Amino acid sequence: MRPWERYFRSVVPYVPGEQPREERLIKLNTNENPYPPAPGVAEALRHMDAEKFRKYPDPAASVLVKVLADYHGLDPEQVFVGVGSDDVLAMAFLTFFNSGKPVFFPDVTYSFYPVWAELFGIPYETRALDDDFCIDPRDYDGENGGVVFPNPNAPTGHLLPLEQIKDILEHNQDVVVIVDEAYIDFGGVSARQLLENYENLLVVRTFSKSRSMAGMRIGYALGDAALIKAMSDVKYSYNSYTMNMPALILGAEAVKDEAYFRKTTQKIVDTRERAKARFADLGFEFPDSLANFLFVKHKRVPAVQLYEALRERKIYVRYFDKPRISDYLRITIGTDDEMEALFSFLESYLN
Ligand SMILES: *Cc1c(COP(=O)(O)O)cnc(C)c1O
Repeated sequence: MRPWERYFRSVVPYVPGEQPREERLIKLNTNENPYPPAPGVAEALRHMDAEKFRKYPDPAASVLVKVLADYHGLDPEQVFVGVGSDDVLAMAFLTFFNSGKPVFFPDVTYSFYPVWAELFGIPYETRALDDDFCIDPRDYDGENGGVVFPNPNAPTGHLLPLEQIKDILEHNQDVVVIVDEAYIDFGGVSARQLLENYENLLVVRTFSKSRSMAGMRIGYALGDAALIKAMSDVKYSYNSYTMNMPALILGAEAVKDEAYFRKTTQKIVDTRERAKARFADLGFEFPDSLANFLFVKHKRVPAVQLYEALRERKIYVRYFDKPRISDYLRITIGTDDEMEALFSFLESYLN
């Protein structure tokens, strides 16, 4: 080891799902949306003037913040935008989790949470989901430095009812509670409506799943103006211009087309419900997902074997070699055609 290398920050990074380069594959491994972004996004892209890129973008991201505030019936002071919700969540960890007490999150959850905690030196404790992969609000009682969980949870798809989120908030009034709603648009009930009563609640959203814009990197948080101000101060101490001009313009465009948003999210919900019946027929078990993916386990065939067999057929799904979930595959809901290809392969493979 060369002397300076001793002082490198050593971290174990988060590993995102594969982004294979080849064509003609069925990609059901990273929960992307199978439909294109709203038509207005392509239209706005065509009219974009590269000359404008000469200048810095608006550091306050006002165009996008305003559209999101209107959409959610909030003040612009209650909206924070970032480079995907990963950036928003990282900023929130950095801003709110400084008590030195452990932050609580589920043992089976978004695997970026422990990575940020390690990176920022935030102590944390995981709370085991029950045998049905459900969160028990009672596990979040007691002294902690904050609480964070996705709703629906990832990779299980399980939705925590609003009453139970309220219960968690009631028992955690001295810390910030973050609800990561990456998948809320596929049939869940948002904690947005709790913001009036809980000034310590931060609701985090993304354009990557329900708005088909993972490649644009847009995420946001909704919360009390004091929370948003604190996050903005941290952001401005780190990088003033997180959001580039195209992301601001195209993101705002996406939010304007509510009809398209409803149509495409509903299509995914319908495909998911049909997929549940097909998976059950094929001998799979799964938590009742309200996300754009299913977390399935076959009664007989090990997940890793199915994962390899599917991969050979250029059908990519996600396998996690981790405690408690190594018997499961997380399968994104694609188009009806993609799901048909998946099921016809599984039918022949399993019989
Ligand atoms: C996908 C995902 C995110 C991150 O999405 P971005 O693409 O960074 O906006 C955050 N949380 C959960 C639970 C996710 O599944």
